[in-house]
Amino acid sequence: MDSSENAYAALQKEIFDQYERMNEDDTFKFRCHPGVTCFNKCCTDVNIFLTPYDIIRLKNRLGIDSDEFLTRYTIMPMDNNQHYPVVMMRLQDDEAKTCYFVEPGKGCTVYEDRPWPCRMFPIGKASPKMEEAKPFYFEMHEDICEGWKEEQVLSVRGWMEDQEVNDYDEMGELFKEVTLHDFYGDGGKLTPQQMEMFHMVCYNMDKFRLFVFETSFLNRFEIDEERIESIKKDDVELLKFGYDWLKFALYHEPTLKIREEAKPK
Ligand code: SF4
Ligand code: SF4
Repeated sequence: MDSSENAYAALQKEIFDQYERMNEDDTFKFRCHPGVTCFNKCCTDVNIFLTPYDIIRLKNRLGIDSDEFLTRYTIMPMDNNQHYPVVMMRLQDDEAKTCYFVEPGKGCTVYEDRPWPCRMFPIGKASPKMEEAKPFYFEMHEDICEGWKEEQVLSVRGWMEDQEVNDYDEMGELFKEVTLHDFYGDGGKLTPQQMEMFHMVCYNMDKFRLFVFETSFLNRFEIDEERIESIKKDDVELLKFGYDWLKFALYHEPTLKIREEAKPK
């Protein structure tokens, strides 16, 4: 394990062992608004892991393709022990390490499409493995955050509704079916080519679309016309299809059907 992985594992352990676990009905006192002295301070020097759905929302918000988004606004940390590629938000090269999307006096310029962690903060969610108990929630008390001194009382459920995390959570569950797969628990390891495939399918929608429509891909699988039409235009449908493809290609699940004529004789 390298030092960042050690730190991550230590944090995970601390959360599981020491943090008070909350469910969706539990309440907390918090309010974030432009009047707090810390307004937008939480948009500097942050580690934000982006999910595939976060990337779709952001690149479409910005009106750029996924290649450009990945190049301009993300980094891809990688080490030898990593099971699959991850993508993090790139921060500006200033002293404070400011998020590219925050503007002084204006706040978050991509607010309606901000990533999942920005919506959930200051509530964290710990997701054990798929087969274990339901995820739980916990409070994140950062020193800079003044919102805890406010009097507004909210339930975790109310906070999540207010922050509109529903679509993100639904897509997050599908992503977990890929990332928390037994394949890894059983010691499976992706080859460099499989890592590349994973990266394209999950994070580079526009490249994946070209792969589906401009190679012999569609000749090899039985896919109904309606689904083909939907993945042509809709990034979210394409991502769901991509998850099926990854489960088929990496974990040998029967999520796609090979055409008779494309089967090896
Ligand atoms: S995306 Fe928006 S909310 Fe999230 S860190 Fe950047 S500016 Fe802040
Ligand atoms: S630090 Fe806390 S209260 Fe301040 S802007 Fe960020 S979330 Fe809101």
